[in-house]
Amino acid sequence: MDQLRFDGRVAVVTGAGGGLGKEYALLLASRGAKVVVNDLGGARDGLGKSNFADAVVKEIKDKGGVAVADYNSVVEGEKLIKTALDNFGRIDILINNAGILRDKSFQKMSEQDWDLIHAVHLKGAFKTTQAAWETFKKQKYGRVIMTSSNAGLIGNFGQANYSAAKMGLVGLANTLAIEGAKYDIKVNTIVPTAASRLTEDILPPEMFQAMKPELIAPVVAYMVHESFPDTGVIIDSTLGFASKAHLVRSSGAPLRKKHTDPVTIESVKEKWAEAVNMEKAKHFDKMADVTIDLVSSLQEFEDRSKLDSVR
Ligand code: NAD
Repeated sequence: MDQLRFDGRVAVVTGAGGGLGKEYALLLASRGAKVVVNDLGGARDGLGKSNFADAVVKEIKDKGGVAVADYNSVVEGEKLIKTALDNFGRIDILINNAGILRDKSFQKMSEQDWDLIHAVHLKGAFKTTQAAWETFKKQKYGRVIMTSSNAGLIGNFGQANYSAAKMGLVGLANTLAIEGAKYDIKVNTIVPTAASRLTEDILPPEMFQAMKPELIAPVVAYMVHESFPDTGVIIDSTLGFASKAHLVRSSGAPLRKKHTDPVTIESVKEKWAEAVNMEKAKHFDKMADVTIDLVSSLQEFEDRSKLDSVR
């Protein structure tokens, strides 16, 4: 297969001073992209500031690539995008990757723990993506990644703030995939699991050694390549493995015998097992498809109850 390249493309990778973001930046630059290596350089809990994006820029330049450092917080996303436009005159790829943790059991979680997590993960992605959106629309091209987590998709003890923000990013990606479709703006979500300073005290040591961020970078790079076919997908990746996750809805059940009957708490209880039976569960790409599915189920129910009444 021909090498997949990014020549002429400009990428902004947020939180690229270390961990996963650094690997994304290095890989894209090695394939010809000009990269804005953004990192506020704070601690794991979001406090402080430093210039550790510089080391990544140096590594890219030493290997013959093109990159510039940006030390702004993603909360001021317009500044990051300005860095790309000022230095390289365009932006094609945005990888929203910056992240922090402030884990606490729910009762002990302060409002600040909640707000800071939402600011960096969710508002940061909103601000940065919105700042790039106009350019993407004008040039009729854009590739955006949101970074979610199994803590959001599944839930995890002590991460109520983080889980909520990470699931929020899925909602953001779902809608932007729809809004961006006619402009060839593809918005997808990565759910990574990798060794980094965020997971060093969570993953068992042998797993930590094996879960190299380099194993996820090619997945994300493909997801921001012009040939990537999908939009609005959630890709879970770790240890050189990739899979797709999506929400499904059961085919449901009518909650009464005839459409003229009332719905009662008891009739809901009676039909509950059927309503939540996931055997014929379906995924929907658009809200309209949910309505169409519901209307056809109700039509079927009405036809059946009419037949029953003439029998
Ligand atoms: P990391 O700490 O190595 O990288 C995150 C980077 O974001 C850091 O370099 C940090 O300085 C930077 N950052 C923090 N706040 C910022 C801000 N306001 N503006 C700009 N940069 C900021 O951790 P990582 O594991 O590489 O995490 C990358 C992303 O992947 C995060 O969004 C994280 O939530 C997500 N994630 C990671 C894992 C995993 O297993 N490592 C699992 C699920 C999700």
